[in-house]
Amino acid sequence: MPARTDSFDLGRLRLTSGEGRRLVLEVALDPLQFGGETYVVTPAAAEATLDLSRTTHNGYALRLRFDTTLQGPCMRCLDPARPAISVDAREVDQPGDVEELRSPYVDEELLDLHAWARDALALALPAQLLCREDCAGLCPVCGADLNTAGPQHGHERAPDPRWAKLSELKLD
Ligand SMILES: [Zn+2]
Ligand SMILES: [Zn+2]
Repeated sequence: MPARTDSFDLGRLRLTSGEGRRLVLEVALDPLQFGGETYVVTPAAAEATLDLSRTTHNGYALRLRFDTTLQGPCMRCLDPARPAISVDAREVDQPGDVEELRSPYVDEELLDLHAWARDALALALPAQLLCREDCAGLCPVCGADLNTAGPQHGHERAPDPRWAKLSELKLD
């Protein structure tokens, strides 16, 4: 594993305008909250690829990529789930008066890799974290796990009183 890096001094690389570099760094990943549940990131650190290049106006263009796995309850059936997440995030930090061109993760030339990785992971999450893509979830009536309950699982519906009245009508 490469050296664990929480913050990275971009200036240290002494890149000149247009020059780029690819680095492989170990970045620590905190447990995260999603849908009211806590998901642990396993392993707790990811090997991340950081591409950076110096822009023509003393700024930086940055790209961070890593793959990781979360561990926590499936949001449909509550069984343990281990969804795999791929992160591919970009940032630009361009010194100047335009606020939109400043990255919140770059202070002077210090990149807050830990905060960026945490936020990028949160943004890369799918709408639901599931044990498997086609998880059938729980029965809305009795709470049985529909992944294991079998195709016969179902409940007699209490008949709608309006239909009961209709069935009494005699149609000539
Ligand atoms: Zn599930
Ligand atoms: Zn049921």
